[in-house]
Amino acid sequence: MVKKRKKHLPDKYKKSVFEIDFFSLYNAGFRVVFLDIDNTLIKYTKAKPTKKVIELIADIEKIGFEIVLISNNYKKRVKIFAEPLNKPAVHYAMKPFKCGYKRGLKKLSEKYSPQQIISVGDQLLTDVRGSNKMGFYTILVKPLERKSDVWTTKINRFLERRIIRKIKKKYPKLYEERLQDYESL
Ligand SMILES: [Mg+2]
Repeated sequence: MVKKRKKHLPDKYKKSVFEIDFFSLYNAGFRVVFLDIDNTLIKYTKAKPTKKVIELIADIEKIGFEIVLISNNYKKRVKIFAEPLNKPAVHYAMKPFKCGYKRGLKKLSEKYSPQQIISVGDQLLTDVRGSNKMGFYTILVKPLERKSDVWTTKINRFLERRIIRKIKKKYPKLYEERLQDYESL
């Protein structure tokens, strides 16, 4: 399996979280969605969920999914965002480590297998790497606004470019399919 060999490769790429077909994913057997917050759902410069985000969360829930918000950001930031959505949230998740995802799993109403879980995020080194470790189905989205990345993310982006270059060389087809557009500004 490609996934085993390429720990930073997502299973799928979408331009934005708003373009993901959650209905089809539900029909394919997925039941849980882990959502990254910063630059996946909102820009770093925003604090509260936008109308579009509120609608998206409601739509995903209506389909039948359980949702967990998961962020490496600090408690207050995550709380201000998550509260109006009334969804379980994990702060200081320490992605790509497994601990934050495990905390998230505990917030769900029942036990799910990794094969039933989708994880959406905008970073290869944290979201994709961590979710791959957990065995989730990983969807990479383009960051909403790269220029607002915090300094830790800027470092990650630098490392990310090197990883992408390697993947491009080794798996040109997969690069084209899942990373080319992500890389373009
Ligand atoms: Mg992010």
